Order: sequence, then structure tokens, then C-alpha cells
Amino acid sequence: MISVRQAREIILKNIFPVKENELIKIESALGRVCVSDLKSKENIPPFNNSAMDGFAVRAEDVKGSRGENPKILEVVGSLAAGYTTGKTIRPGEAIRIMTGAPLPKGADSVVMVEDTELVHSKKNEMVEILKAVKKGENVRYAGEDVEKGEVVIKKGSILKSGHIGMLASLGFGRVKVFRKPKVAILATGDELVQIKQKLTPGKIRNSNSYSLYAQVLKAGALPILLGIARDNKKAIEDKIRQGLSADVLIVCGGVSVGDYDFVKDVLKDMGTQMKFWRVAMKPGKPLVFGLMRKVPVFGLPGNPVSGMVSFEQFARPALLKMSGAGDIFRFRLPATAGDDFEKKKGLRYFLRVVLKNKEGRLYAFLTGPQGSGILKSMVLANGIMELPEDMEVIRAGETAEVTYLE
Ligand code: AMP
Ligand code: MG
Repeated sequence: MISVRQAREIILKNIFPVKENELIKIESALGRVCVSDLKSKENIPPFNNSAMDGFAVRAEDVKGSRGENPKILEVVGSLAAGYTTGKTIRPGEAIRIMTGAPLPKGADSVVMVEDTELVHSKKNEMVEILKAVKKGENVRYAGEDVEKGEVVIKKGSILKSGHIGMLASLGFGRVKVFRKPKVAILATGDELVQIKQKLTPGKIRNSNSYSLYAQVLKAGALPILLGIARDNKKAIEDKIRQGLSADVLIVCGGVSVGDYDFVKDVLKDMGTQMKFWRVAMKPGKPLVFGLMRKVPVFGLPGNPVSGMVSFEQFARPALLKMSGAGDIFRFRLPATAGDDFEKKKGLRYFLRVVLKNKEGRLYAFLTGPQGSGILKSMVLANGIMELPEDMEVIRAGETAEVTYLE
């Protein structure tokens, strides 16, 4: 039996990013993985502009200005966002300016409107400056967000909302992303019936295919359902053959030591290069990983929670790596255990927890019974708490590592 860490290393060593990519509209690019470093061809913002609604001024003209002793400037124009002015501000002058409007020549700073008072003289509009500004205050400089030539989006980035906006800002209406890996999912078991089939004695519905389907989607890949194979070698082999055009094959159930657990044998008979079949974890333990003619094959345990937890630990990072992503692991953070829990030494535990923020501290409460068949423990969970191999007990109030399942 190997450790979770070793298993993950072996898996990731055998996983390679897909080669093909596609050019897609940025509206459809959320969650996709960027193929190359993207450099800006321009400065963003492209010109110096005002960060506030107010008055563009020369800082030296308003030096020492205070409410009791304001400097008074002549307002020589008004400038909205989207327009330019040919006017140059001379000593003693100001231009009314809106957020985003280009800074007029001669001005070097902006006084926000809240720090001014208009004075109407007969001839000209005048403004009292109630607060001095430093040179450059309330000015957004050309290139202060992005400099021309800068790499703004790195190869392997999983595109988030901010990236999508940045792509638009850089002038890209389309972006090259890696194609999604195709993942064939096979359920096994004589006890399984399809969702709408009648439940006769001894039968249960196939739920694993669907939790895995959703997990594959969540990992940014394309799930393909192969349905259910009965517990005999021929049925399993036939179904597996249908899945071999996919990039990854996931078989769930039938990988343990029961009399009808034929998946390992079938995989071997079909020429799979088996890398391991047991991992020191709970839930989980039976877990097969191998390569069938270069197609990575995961044999996940049939128990609903074990399958999901194993997917999360092994298949998810593998699919992300295959998708070309640079960052393939979920973010881990320390949380305070909300309950006592005793465990077996030697196995790494993955407990389903509810993460709650209480008075600025992150707590992790168990979602109830933690049996590997209690799918509800997954339904209620928004996090997984990891207890390391050498630990025997955790007490409420102690710290453990958690991952947030967003
Ligand atoms: P196995 O790994 O095949 O021995 O299955 C372990 C347990 O998980 C058994 O109780 C199975 O009935 C259950 N199980 C296996 N496959 C599925 C599935 N696709 N959906 C729901 N439960 C399953
Ligand atoms: Mg079975």
C-alpha cells in the first residue's frame, strides 16, 4: 500500500497536457486554460487620466490651500470621460474634470469635487480649493495597470472573471485555450439500476456515474457516460473498449477484493500497465491507476463517498494537468476542528466538514456520520479536513488543514 502523496506523484508523472487547442470567444472562456503567455501591445490605461470627479490643477497653485484659507482658481473648461481638450492649464487656472477623462496639458493633479466650492463671480466661474493636493494626486498614469510588453495572462492560467475583463481591455475578443480532456465514466455492479428503473429487492440506483460526471465538469473536463457494466469480465471489457477513445477512463466499483471485483483483472487482461491498486487513505483505499495504451485509467472505489474523495485527491489534479493548467491543487488553509475525531494510525483521513467563519476564525464541523457510503456527508460539506497518517485523534479546538470545495 502506498501513501496518498506517493500515489499522486505516480499519477501526475504519467499525465501530460493535451496538445490541441482552440480559439474561442472570451464570453465562453471562463474556466478554460490559456495556451500561451499573453502580452499587452499597449499601455493600460492608454493615457494619464483623472481618478476622480473634480478639478484638474497644477499642484503648485494650490499649495497650502485649506478650508479657512482656500486658493481660488479660474475654471477655464470642463472635460468629460471620452473627450480631449486642446486647452493648456496656465497658472491660476483649473479645468472641471470627470473620472476617466484625460488629464489636460499643464495640469499635474486633480482636486476631488468634495474638496472644492464653486464661486460665481460676474465674469468667470471660479473654484475655491479647500484642500491642497500633492503632485500626481488622483491621477491614473498611462500604463499603471498594465505596461506595454508586459505578460498579463500567463500560459496555464485558468481564466477567471478578471482575466475575461482583462482580455477585453487588451483588445482580445477571442483567446486560445487547450481543448477539454474527454473523460469516459463507467459504473460497475450487478446491483445497479438506472435512475428511472424500478428498484427491485437488492438493487440500488447508480449514483456514482452522476457525482463523477459533475466532478469531471467541475474540473473543467468533458464527461462521457458509458453506463453500467455488470459484474462479469466480458461486460466490463466491452464497456471499457467503448471508452478508449477518451483521454481518460474512470471505472468505479469492482476494484476491491470481493469475489466479483473483476475490474483489475480485466484491465490487466486488456494490457493495462498497472501502477498501483491500494492507497493508505480513508475513505478510499482500493484505488487502481494504470495506463492502457497511454490512456490513464482510474479504478475508483464503488462506495459513493470513497469514489468522490478519491476523484478529488487524484483524478481532479490529473485532469487539470491534462487541461494544461499550471495550478492544479486546491488551496489549503488551517481551520479549527469543531469536533473530536478518532482515527486509525497509518491512513490519511479525508473528513467531510462544514466550514464556518465564527468571529474571524475558521471552524470545521463534521457533517455527521463519516461512513464511506453516507453520501449525505458530501451533500452537507463545503470542505474536506485532512488528518495526516501519523495522527490518532483530533480534539475540538485543535488545528487541521482543510480545503474549501467551491
Ligand atoms: P464495490 O467497490 O463494487 O465493492 O462497491 C462498494 C459499494 O459501493 C457497494 O455497496 C456498492 O453497491 C456501492 N456502489 C458501487 N457502485 C456504485 C454506483 N455506481 N452507485 C452507487 N453505489 C455504488
Ligand atoms: Mg461492485
